[in-house]
Amino acid sequence: MSSLKQKLHEQILEIRPHHGLCTEFFRGMGYSEKFAESMAEIIAALESENPEVRLTVGADVICINCPHNSNGICETSEKVNGYDRAVLEKCGLSDGSCIKWQDFKNAVRKEIISKNKLSDVCGDCSWYEFCKKL
Ligand code: SF4
Repeated sequence: MSSLKQKLHEQILEIRPHHGLCTEFFRGMGYSEKFAESMAEIIAALESENPEVRLTVGADVICINCPHNSNGICETSEKVNGYDRAVLEKCGLSDGSCIKWQDFKNAVRKEIISKNKLSDVCGDCSWYEFCKKL
């Protein structure tokens, strides 16, 4: 078992809510090669282990290898914190909610993607045009 998968069984991983959308539309690209490799590994572990995660407005395990992470704070934190809060509000969840990964993903699909509300959450993100075509 990889160390990441092991970690998922030993502690509750913090995931920032808007990453429920980023992980849905991820197709192997990202802010850097290292970031994309790390994100692929994290998604694979979340999908195979379906752990309980704690939804947290703030930098998470995906942010660790991001070039826009400056000492644990996203360089665009004001914008992405807003994305996080919009996801929570649309899914009826709260900052700090603990939920199984697949239940969270299902809520994101049902309340945001199926209802065509992506632009309400992250329409000004640099990846929006890419994601909306998928
Ligand atoms: S640091 Fe910011 S830009 Fe990078 S993955 Fe986290 S939220 Fe996204």
